[in-house]
Amino acid sequence: MKVTETLTPSAPPATGVVPLSVPEIRGNEWRYVKDCLDTAWVSSVGSYVDRFEQMVAQQAGTKYAVATVNGTSALHIALLVAGVQPEDEVLVSTLTFIAPVNAIRYVGAWPVFIDAEPASWQMDPARVVEFLERDCRWNDGSLYNRRTGRRVTAVIPVHILGHPVDLDPILAVARKFGLNVVEDATEGLGATYKGRGVGSLGDIACFSFNGNKIITTGGGGMIVTDNEEWAGRAKYLTTQAKDDPIEYVHGQVGYNYRLTNLLAAIGCAQMEQLSSYVSAKRKIAARYSEELHNLPGIAPMRNAPWAASTFWMYTILIEEETFGMDSRQLMRTLGLQGLQCRPLWQPIHKSPAHASTNVGAMPVAEQLARRALSLPCSVGLTESEQARVIGALAKLAE
Ligand SMILES: *Cc1c(COP(=O)(O)O)cnc(C)c1O
Repeated sequence: MKVTETLTPSAPPATGVVPLSVPEIRGNEWRYVKDCLDTAWVSSVGSYVDRFEQMVAQQAGTKYAVATVNGTSALHIALLVAGVQPEDEVLVSTLTFIAPVNAIRYVGAWPVFIDAEPASWQMDPARVVEFLERDCRWNDGSLYNRRTGRRVTAVIPVHILGHPVDLDPILAVARKFGLNVVEDATEGLGATYKGRGVGSLGDIACFSFNGNKIITTGGGGMIVTDNEEWAGRAKYLTTQAKDDPIEYVHGQVGYNYRLTNLLAAIGCAQMEQLSSYVSAKRKIAARYSEELHNLPGIAPMRNAPWAASTFWMYTILIEEETFGMDSRQLMRTLGLQGLQCRPLWQPIHKSPAHASTNVGAMPVAEQLARRALSLPCSVGLTESEQARVIGALAKLAE
């Protein structure tokens, strides 16, 4: 997916290429950036940073927001603020982009991978409950993994592809055992779970404004929470843990993770258009699902009854035996026609980067990763471009 970040509207793709997903820049971006340049408010404080934080907090439905340089740094700080300690264990979806798992390692903790559920492809709440109830033991106010002996302190449900995780059962079991829930909502801005905004469901949550997310600042992130103390700590840690603004006194080892006003200005303009982007994504998804659901060997992504997905990255599953080729062959075939598609991520329990974390098979995530293919779904995808994708799939399915 990251490949698409190099394709931007200002450098149009070669004729005939339909990119997977590119940014949509058509609002006040230029005006707000010009304002920053004209006033020289370009760096890590400024009115656009404050405004961007307020806009994202309001969208998520939280009291506080702290802007960061990217979504990965937001996750790193959220784990620190949530009190995750070195050698702790943190439950995390295995079917995810790698960033939340890397963030667990940044704080010296270890991931416990949780398989996906087959209906909406998200972290399986039944596996979370099973692990915590059966494979852990409660001792002296803390929960310990029976196998490793390590303390379990947090859960990171990753809302993938714009669809929420079924969070209520996870929140209930997390409350029971005193675990903090850190939502990785980086792909979920604008989605709702049982009417509540993604990002307001757990104890703290993170967003990303990377180039292929639903809105972008080029690169950026946000931490949101209702916890005033945590928000203050997040701001402190992202600004080098500065205790005295004049005398350069730092209370601990901090980070330079703040977003610049220049990028926040782009973020404000993008946020103004979020609802129209979400509508565009849903419209694209509805058309794909309508046209593809009858094709043999293709299973379109669904929206669970308790969710309102944004369909940020529209994805189908290819059943090789019926369709006649596997998802990778299909990707190459469509690629030759200028239609840019991408598989999902290697499930992280299989990743060489996290090979030291020894776990068993995760059959659902592994099968989804083999079969999944994301289709072109830029906010600005035209009807004729989408017709080309649908037509190509229909022809191959025959
Ligand atoms: C994009 C993404 C991130 C990280 O965001 P960056 O801004 O690229 O650091 C984290 N988690 C998931 C699931 C993502 O898709």
